[in-house]
Amino acid sequence: MVKELACRKCKTLTTDRICPNCKSKDLSPNWSGLIIIEDIDRSLVAKTLDISKTGRYALKVT
Ligand SMILES: [Zn+2]
Repeated sequence: MVKELACRKCKTLTTDRICPNCKSKDLSPNWSGLIIIEDIDRSLVAKTLDISKTGRYALKVT
């Protein structure tokens, strides 16, 4: 299994070399806290973290 990388800009998780959300190449293998956003309108977490799309995100990226 390929380790996912987290985008340093928008925290999206991806196995690609480029972020599928913001097209940034600034990805980090050092992240923690998996967040899965399924319902953007009802998610307090999404609001708090300023996430505007459903998907999988890292809580902390270093
Ligand atoms: Zn991104």
